[in-house]
Amino acid sequence: MLSVCGLSVRYGRAVRALENVDLEVGDDAVLAVLGGNGAGKSTLLRTISGTLRLHRGAVTAGQVILDDQRIDRLDPAAIVRRGAVAVPEGRQIFARMSVEENLRAGGLGAASAAVRRTARDRVHELFPVLAERAKQRAGLLSGGEQQMLAIGRALMSGPRLLLLDEPSLGLAPQLVGRIASIIAEIHVQGTAVVLVEQNATMALQVADHAVVLEVGRVALTGPADRLAASDDVQRLYLGGHAESDAQADAEVRAAQTSATGVRGLSRWAG
Ligand code: ATP
Repeated sequence: MLSVCGLSVRYGRAVRALENVDLEVGDDAVLAVLGGNGAGKSTLLRTISGTLRLHRGAVTAGQVILDDQRIDRLDPAAIVRRGAVAVPEGRQIFARMSVEENLRAGGLGAASAAVRRTARDRVHELFPVLAERAKQRAGLLSGGEQQMLAIGRALMSGPRLLLLDEPSLGLAPQLVGRIASIIAEIHVQGTAVVLVEQNATMALQVADHAVVLEVGRVALTGPADRLAASDDVQRLYLGGHAESDAQADAEVRAAQTSATGVRGLSRWAG
């Protein structure tokens, strides 16, 4: 579905944020993008979602291809229409609008009213709290609920590819597990996901494949379970999340066993 080929990105003349990055996301896959601060993870999502120019960045080499068509010169709305939607870092909801109005705003990019209706049912099923709090001002939701609203709003256009930038950031361990299980469910329902995370254990539990970025370059890439077992990843990225990891693991397993028509989750079976 998505190919990033030889991608290099700069901000101004001085900052080389990405250098010759290659990656692929299949139709029915979750790709985790890992790396420390400043590795280029957000820049990668900005480039795929077409918002790089808003941050004064520019592609200096390479291409981003979605369904065999080049998208790195398209604006964000055109990329949403092609089925790729981003949830930027920091739960950027419309705080003064109601929960329902936020969801409606997300649905503006939907191909038809029927797609919007199906998407709304799916969002309310995934996040019952958003149906319960429909009339409430979004700014009054808790941090975890705001993250759910941000993801729900992105799902309202019926995307085939969801781009998530650090959805677990700042959330309590229990909520990290909840977000992990929701991503697993979204995947099971047939939406591909690119998951940027600093919480590597959570991301590697949910993902099929992963890439590790270091200073704008791909340092490691491979199946998520293989990377999770690699000494380098263990040493650099799997040190500090023990409590939330156990919670995420339990929640993801629960999502897997409760889901019907599970695809691509056989790693967790048994
Ligand atoms: P973090 O996990 O801290 O969010 P990241 O992996 O997402 O980091 P990016 O935000 O993509 O990394 O940043 C990659 C590099 O580009 C860094 O050196 C950063 O300082 C720089 N950078 C990011 N945004 C801009 C910008 N708008 N203008 C100039 N430099 C930027």
